[in-house]
Amino acid sequence: MAILALQLDADQVTGLLTTLTGEPLLRINEHHGRPMGRPEPILDVMASVLGRILDASEAMGRRLADMTVVVFAPVGGHPPVVIADTDLGWGTVDLLAGLRQRDSRVPPFARLLPDSILAAQAELTLLEDGRDMIYLKSNSGIGGAVIVDGAVVAGAHELAGALGHIPLVPGGVLCGCGQRGCLDTVAGPDVILRAAGLAGLLESDGLTAALDELTGRILAGEPRASAVWDAAAEWIARALQILSMAVDPKVIVLGGYWARLAESIGIRYAASRPLAAMGVAWLQVDVVAGRLEGDAALFGAVWGARDRLLGDPLQISI
Ligand SMILES: [Zn+2]
Repeated sequence: MAILALQLDADQVTGLLTTLTGEPLLRINEHHGRPMGRPEPILDVMASVLGRILDASEAMGRRLADMTVVVFAPVGGHPPVVIADTDLGWGTVDLLAGLRQRDSRVPPFARLLPDSILAAQAELTLLEDGRDMIYLKSNSGIGGAVIVDGAVVAGAHELAGALGHIPLVPGGVLCGCGQRGCLDTVAGPDVILRAAGLAGLLESDGLTAALDELTGRILAGEPRASAVWDAAAEWIARALQILSMAVDPKVIVLGGYWARLAESIGIRYAASRPLAAMGVAWLQVDVVAGRLEGDAALFGAVWGARDRLLGDPLQISI
């Protein structure tokens, strides 16, 4: 038996096959070239990676006990579909149906989940006390998850945690979601990369490489990148303040490329906390860097599957 996580991000498709205890058996990455607005070529790449993983799994004599498709985009509906993705220029896309059209071996129990929830759950398992946690990340857009008393808050429309769309700036730039002045419009990766002069690198080398370069420049104190980051970090800290008053977290975990910049966000956030000036210790909220970086969602998918299967061994005989 085996667990499969198939992940789609802004640059590539990653397939990870593991044992039931989460030990890696095979990992395949393939760049998809990001043809804007066209799901079909990207589904072809996903199906190619999936097919190779399933072939290898069969050759090992391992049947799938669990399969999660992870997508760096919001997911909603029944059955679940990708609602939109700005990095790929998508509207609604039924990824599971598209994969099934290309490979009939996609099992009926395959699930589709957004990366941010899985990444938050993975980071949560590494914390000593993360039962009340806000997870905020940026790589492909800005996303997150709110965890209250150990559980991810889904919301009435399963859209809770769309933290990139907290409207911050009155009368600000129109966002793709229809609101004005969302966090994404002042601190989203496209906005920051363009302002830092890295739009060309984004086009030529992809999002991951461009964000690596940006982070390096900020940490090295390069003036243009630093100025852009200073402005964005103020907005990120403000969004965290707003969220904190709604959720009252114990810890805030910053993921994606913000993990390496967590300190600069944490300083701004702490400076504005209520009663901070009076040093009220029990109001302390820790702002920490995520520890799993780019693999957080993949680990979240695999660890979640492992825990489900071990918690209900009857599923293993599916
Ligand atoms: Zn928005």
